[in-house]
Amino acid sequence: MKMIGHQAQQQQMAEQLKQDHMNHAILLHGPKGVGKSLFAHELAAAYLCENSTTWACGTCQSCHMLTGDAHPDFLSLGRAYNDKQVQNRDINVAQVRELGHFIGLTGTRSQHRVVILDDADHLNRQAANALLKGLEEPAQGCLILLVCEKIQHLPITVRSRCLLMPFSALSTEDCLHVCQNMGISKAYLDLAQKLAQGQPGKVIDMCQEKKAQALLTLSQLSQKPLDMIAWQLWLETHLSSLSHHMIIELICAPYLQNLQQLKNFEQHQELSKALWDMACWPERLRTHSLRPVPSLLAHLLHLEDVSHKA
Ligand SMILES: [Zn+2]
Repeated sequence: MKMIGHQAQQQQMAEQLKQDHMNHAILLHGPKGVGKSLFAHELAAAYLCENSTTWACGTCQSCHMLTGDAHPDFLSLGRAYNDKQVQNRDINVAQVRELGHFIGLTGTRSQHRVVILDDADHLNRQAANALLKGLEEPAQGCLILLVCEKIQHLPITVRSRCLLMPFSALSTEDCLHVCQNMGISKAYLDLAQKLAQGQPGKVIDMCQEKKAQALLTLSQLSQKPLDMIAWQLWLETHLSSLSHHMIIELICAPYLQNLQQLKNFEQHQELSKALWDMACWPERLRTHSLRPVPSLLAHLLHLEDVSHKA
């Protein structure tokens, strides 16, 4: 298997595959960007592989078809994109019916079929009810893999019919290894690791040299005394093309350090509040019609202001 980390989960699945005794539905859940979807795809490949009793051989016809995205016994579903190329908020009942139809068919290449349902915590109520039927009466040889971040958003009726497989953040070492494999240049690995915090999927943008360089510049800016002109220039150039959460994390890092050293209660409260406001900025940008650069600069000035008092 090409997976890095998650050894316990790998071992559990290898065991089930070897004994040819798979749970018919498995719910892979845990934080974003730790490789749950990748794990589900690896598991699907292994289950469909014609040679392997543990992990996919990579050479049989089934493995080739899967790599070519043309396997008749494999279906992958998630949140669809609308006409404006924006991802829908929910997985709807029509998609789950497609899934139901697929698992009701018999395997064309072998007795096995696999469905991966990504973002399963975005199933709407009607869709979750429709999924229950497939989970209650599984077709022979069919494996359903549900992948999600927030397991509590799934109805208990769905959860209780699956084998629960929790995932957690990767160790520092494994995270570094994944970042390297993703193709992040050596010069940015330290920063990538710092931002990823065991969730390398969060820093996938840093595979692009331009974005990685911009983040490195931001990280250096945030460590220096506040230079509003440099900040404004940076924000005007890069704000629209980078993850707002990554930007906020870098901005807040030095102030968080400062916060830990504050002993005065009022000052602590004031800085905490300013940090919280900054953390909420990406969400407010979406819900209110704020001008991105000036509103972010205002938060930054306020942070600097209450931090100086300290
Ligand atoms: Zn194979």
